Amino acid sequence: NQLIDQIAAGEVVERPASVVKELVENALDAGATRITIDVQTGGKKSIKITDNGQGIAKNELALAIERHATSKIDSLYDLEHLGSLGFRGEALPSIASVSRFKITSQQAEADMAYCIRSDGGQISGPEPASHPPGTTVEVTDLFYNTPARRRFLKTDRTEFLRIDELIKQLSLSRFDVGFRLAHNGQIVRHAQAGDDEPLIHQRISQLCGKDFMEQALHIEHQRGDLKISGWVAKPNWNRARADRQFFFINGRVIKDKLVAHAIRQAYQDVLFHGRHPAFVLYLNLNPELVDVNVHPTKHEVRFRDTRLVHDFIFGAIHQTLAPARM
Ligand code: ADP
Ligand code: MG
Repeated sequence: NQLIDQIAAGEVVERPASVVKELVENALDAGATRITIDVQTGGKKSIKITDNGQGIAKNELALAIERHATSKIDSLYDLEHLGSLGFRGEALPSIASVSRFKITSQQAEADMAYCIRSDGGQISGPEPASHPPGTTVEVTDLFYNTPARRRFLKTDRTEFLRIDELIKQLSLSRFDVGFRLAHNGQIVRHAQAGDDEPLIHQRISQLCGKDFMEQALHIEHQRGDLKISGWVAKPNWNRARADRQFFFINGRVIKDKLVAHAIRQAYQDVLFHGRHPAFVLYLNLNPELVDVNVHPTKHEVRFRDTRLVHDFIFGAIHQTLAPARM
């Protein structure tokens, strides 16, 4: 069983950033409005994530690190109408099998907090602990028992940059949630929760640059089930940086060829000469029209009607850019 978890971990847990992703998504699924992420040495030594979400009951702590113990899916119907980010019940057992792992949690209505530990998959606890309402997950010595995978990790700096990029993406996907990221005890990012316009603008300026936000065109477009909103750089603004491209589908960050193509075409059509158009875009559509369950890391999607989606994105961006053409 531990071996199965370690094999599954190969799919879900590639590096510290994938651990952070799973843990932050769990915090979001638990309804957290404030999430802090503390990592040491690029996440290799430790990853500690604290949320103020609904917490985990004492008698469910052990279940949470057992295989396929997801509490988020009851039927095939749920699988097709996925509201939550996690649904496989695979992440925690996988992470626990390749690290020293600890969850401490307090449910608001419970008498006290409890913690449970797992050392390479050997579970002990739960025992009484102290914690404000919410959950802290600590992952220490990632891959200590799978040296081959540990050797595969890059420098602390590179691993941290991947975590930072991920937190940027998550911060752009949930304005209503506060995020704080620290590396080796130093706060690197701090985004305050709030989805009113000044706070949203402030957050995008922080994450994508003031220079992007100052010239960006706002976009808001709807046709039937499809809705796109966000910001796109003016066609004459060509600071070539590929790290200013963010596309979200139903709240999840996506890197998709079809989407990239539609955006590039719209820019080329208005005589954009830069290499990397900059954008922060949110596409929302009926979940039945898109399959996000293509790969466990959930970056790729499959649209039911690719032509429809491509033309919609192209049209919306083109219409926004055309009046600003120089
Ligand atoms: P999944 O997210 O796919 O359900 P995970 O392995 O990521 O599976 O988590 C297992 C279960 O542990 C979740 O279904 C959830 O019930 C619980 N859980 C994990 N993290 C948290 C958290 N931060 N707050 C509350 N519950 C959590
Ligand atoms: Mg999960």
